[in-house]
Amino acid sequence: MDRTVGASGRVCRRCLLEELGEGDYLESVRRYRARLPEKERTPDDVYDARLAACKECTELVNATCNLCGCYVEIRAARRSSACPAVPAHWSAVQ
Ligand code: SF4
Repeated sequence: MDRTVGASGRVCRRCLLEELGEGDYLESVRRYRARLPEKERTPDDVYDARLAACKECTELVNATCNLCGCYVEIRAARRSSACPAVPAHWSAVQ
């Protein structure tokens, strides 16, 4: 997928997958997260807080982080992941 234009044909700064009309991909991201072992999966409240921080970040374009190239909904799914910004907007959790 061209990272500058979502499936909907829109360029959207500060959008997550669920806002881009990327239904199939969003569903696969949700399955990926649900299948992570609990000890590796970010708790719901932390996951939501991470995505809220991404939504406020100027590096978010079409659900992708400009600094690491990841879809943020995937990067945020693992407890051990951290935001690549310096300083980080969110950190790994135990
Ligand atoms: S720099 Fe951090 S807060 Fe910003 S989009 Fe990337 S992961 Fe999210």
